Amino acid sequence: MKKILIADYIYTPEGVLKNHAVLVDETILQVAPKSKVLRDNKDVETIEYPKYSLLFPGLINAHVHVEFSGNKTELSYGDFINWLYSVIENREELMQGCDLVCMTKAIDAMLANGITTFGAISSHGLDFEACFNAKQNVVFFNELIGSQAAAADVLFGDFLQRLERSKEQKRKGFFPGVAIHSPYSVHPVLVQKALEVVRKERLPLTAHFMESLAERQWLDNAKGEFKEFFDKFLQQQKPVSSAKEFLESFDGVSTLFAHAIKASDEEYETMKRNAHTIAHCPISNRLLGNGALELEKIEKIGVKWCLATDGLSSNYNLDLWEEMKAALFMHTDLPLLELAKKLIAAATVNGANALSLPKGEITKGKDADMIVLQLEGEPTPELELHMILHRYEIIDRFIMGERV
Ligand SMILES: [Zn+2]
Repeated sequence: MKKILIADYIYTPEGVLKNHAVLVDETILQVAPKSKVLRDNKDVETIEYPKYSLLFPGLINAHVHVEFSGNKTELSYGDFINWLYSVIENREELMQGCDLVCMTKAIDAMLANGITTFGAISSHGLDFEACFNAKQNVVFFNELIGSQAAAADVLFGDFLQRLERSKEQKRKGFFPGVAIHSPYSVHPVLVQKALEVVRKERLPLTAHFMESLAERQWLDNAKGEFKEFFDKFLQQQKPVSSAKEFLESFDGVSTLFAHAIKASDEEYETMKRNAHTIAHCPISNRLLGNGALELEKIEKIGVKWCLATDGLSSNYNLDLWEEMKAALFMHTDLPLLELAKKLIAAATVNGANALSLPKGEITKGKDADMIVLQLEGEPTPELELHMILHRYEIIDRFIMGERV
């Protein structure tokens, strides 16, 4: 049903508009001066917000692990490999400790924080029901993992089954996709098979890439902290593929790569050439001791990036405002205001583009996914900075034009 939304200010790609209104159904039909929208659309339901309200695009969290929402204090932070050992040690409790109620709580918390679309990396399919029933738009990335050739057929069969289920059940705003876990954990044969499916069915695609120094050293030299890990758990002495071989298998299929902190300049160039996007998860990166993505460098090379929370297995909440704030204080080499503007784009339109969804901007033709923020005064030229610092109250939310 059509609605007219009148906020004091509207955040658009053309700037912050005053005395304007937005006409929506599932998509944004018109952004124009208030008087014109009202004149053109008599008898349409009108919702008007208070002074200093700001209509803003819904936030987009491109990378989250809903299945691992049970963690509070079980996992060990500060070092990637120690964290990984703690994940394996606590695996059972983590999986069983988060049922439908727990996952739904995490999803609802995202909505409360203004996240109207998320990309869920689903390792086991346990989060299917919670994600399918979510109010948000969801890209449901069925994950493929397995570095041992002997188990490849079984693992691929299980992956296909999960993918099929996510394709069979349909609802508006639910999109099946594929996740290939990482270059160290997926056998090249499996990578090729999954990419065949992705190319044929044109599914959204994501992978983890170069998250830790351990990953870099293992893939480059079969050395470092992963050596003992692979030896102990998988009796594996060498990596299954090089970083180059892994990355190049994605050529021509624009992919969302999570982290990419330890990628080389050459790998960033490859990402740029193939229109890949990096999902930057600053809090997760800090908590796992992986350092900070060199934003200045990837900006200079011209790699696209968006912002994401990762899962509660490496975060304390699922909140992009918190990620923006962490990133603002982490990337001290970039000019403050410029960075604030980039972070706002990274949490909205860049995430939408990475997920290939027509969202993340209040402009005619885009989906009507929006939030209303209650500012405390007139927006200044430093609006983006203050939005991140002050985290204004969200007083309303819309997904595909429906109030949620
Ligand atoms: Zn992840």
